[in-house]
Amino acid sequence: MRMIVCIKQVPAAASASIDPLTKTIVRTGQKAVTNPFDLHALQLALDLRQQTGGTITGITMGLPAAAAALRDGISRGMDGGVLLSDRTFAGADTLATSYALSRGIEKLGGADLILCGRMATDGDTAQIGPELAQQLGLPHVSDVCQVLEIAEDHLVVRRVWDELEQVLHLPLPAVITVVKSSRTPALPTLSGMLRAKDAVIPVWTAADVGADPERCGLRGSPTQVVRTFAPQARRQAQVLGGDVGTQAQALAQLCREVLREQD
Ligand code: FAD
Repeated sequence: MRMIVCIKQVPAAASASIDPLTKTIVRTGQKAVTNPFDLHALQLALDLRQQTGGTITGITMGLPAAAAALRDGISRGMDGGVLLSDRTFAGADTLATSYALSRGIEKLGGADLILCGRMATDGDTAQIGPELAQQLGLPHVSDVCQVLEIAEDHLVVRRVWDELEQVLHLPLPAVITVVKSSRTPALPTLSGMLRAKDAVIPVWTAADVGADPERCGLRGSPTQVVRTFAPQARRQAQVLGGDVGTQAQALAQLCREVLREQD
């Protein structure tokens, strides 16, 4: 089975900050890690490879430094990885990101199964997996926690969604997004780290993957970030008295006041 895992490099949670002038996430000079959900997607791919054989290739779009996330994946068992990096990709929203990734995946020759993390811990939209499936014209299931059955032409997957659980039959090729599971992601091994150090990571530009520049980066992004800010934490406790009806009315009044303040 040919598998491709989408891997994103994100700021380590403790050190993420927002530039007060540009209002964007500061990425330069920040400690970066592999998106934790992507490690769970990779672990699932490793488990499937153990059952069926095959290959796992990582793909990421980002700055040249994002190659480190691919090397991290290789040190944990991935066979190889490609980096999409080009000024044309800069300023991409999720639509432009999924378009670029879809072009990269097509240049890789496609796959039987494409795995994404459920969401990235910085952008947090959880849109890339479903958008990627749409761009590639493939079926997809989000929030997969387990693969119950694997065959040449289909998977049976278990998906969790709040209190809901579903078991779904998914024809291949397909895209899935993976939630954090009880399975601890594999740690890098010594031999993996040596392979990762020597691995050649191809860097592909928009032209290399035949991407239309009009659909890439800022130009290809229909959404614009108006403002990014860290919400100011406010704590103000108020104990509501009276019977349940009185408390409910007082609570509703408080909610109205908070909403008015936010308008
Ligand atoms: P999610 O949808 O939450 O991620 C789900 C999964 O998709 C991940 O677990 C991973 O498996 C995969 N995935 C997500 N992103 C990637 C990736 N890049 N490579 C491989 N796999 C991936 N970001 C910048 O760094 N620079 C910018 O200039 C910039 N400009 C932006 C401008 C706009 C208008 C907007 C809306 C966003 C911008 N972003 C920018 C953020 C960028 O759009 C997101 O980082 C990206 O689209 C992924 O979205 P997400 O983080 O919500 O991923």
